[in-house]
Amino acid sequence: MEVTILGCCGGYPGPGQAASGYLLTIGDKKVLLDCGSGVFSNLQLHVPINGLDAILLSHLHADHYSDLMVMRYAIDMNAKRGMEFKNVPIFAPKTPESVISSLSNDWGYKIGYIGHESELPLFGAKARFFRTQHPVECYGIRIEYEGKVFVYTADCSVDTRFAGYLDDADLCIIDCGELEANRRPNMLHLTPKECYSCAKALRVKKMILSHMVPFYDREDIELEARACGDWNYELAQVNKTYRI
Ligand SMILES: [Zn+2]
Ligand SMILES: [Zn+2]
Repeated sequence: MEVTILGCCGGYPGPGQAASGYLLTIGDKKVLLDCGSGVFSNLQLHVPINGLDAILLSHLHADHYSDLMVMRYAIDMNAKRGMEFKNVPIFAPKTPESVISSLSNDWGYKIGYIGHESELPLFGAKARFFRTQHPVECYGIRIEYEGKVFVYTADCSVDTRFAGYLDDADLCIIDCGELEANRRPNMLHLTPKECYSCAKALRVKKMILSHMVPFYDREDIELEARACGDWNYELAQVNKTYRI
């Protein structure tokens, strides 16, 4: 299994960047995890536009799905020129209903639903979803394949129950959209220190800090992460591939 970072900005893409998107390779199958703005452009550096086998959306905030709309233009324009497209299954939460109905009715996507503890066989891998604490219905994903474990936490606050899902993961992409330096009540995303605590408590072997908000300096995120002590982490880098 491999995962490639296609976009790692939280909320909106910074200059020359992309919002959330990750390309998961399972054997020879290509699965897109989230599709925020800028992701479709980076995706094409790694797979042809008709090369996806499945799409999983953690939740329906625009920074995680908005490029699905421009992807529809790409599909329609290239299909007219004779390119063949598979019927790619898309899985997403059932709500907000207005977004789901727009994606299905206006954009022509057929969507299967995911829920807390729902499981999905995924090209020989086993995907299990877990609800995170976020203002809309949102799911993290634990994927097991050939004895290895990959976790994507999606967007999550510290109140999320991580135990039972992140345990002993070989690689975890985690929402690090906050800083201790900017601590305030009821933060919607994790700080590097909270990511560290999670990694230590659940024996995560490697953490990729992602969903970084463009108005925070990468250097400040790095400084807070380094100050936590000895742990295996990295700030997400666009177009970098990690073997799991
Ligand atoms: Zn987000
Ligand atoms: Zn969100």
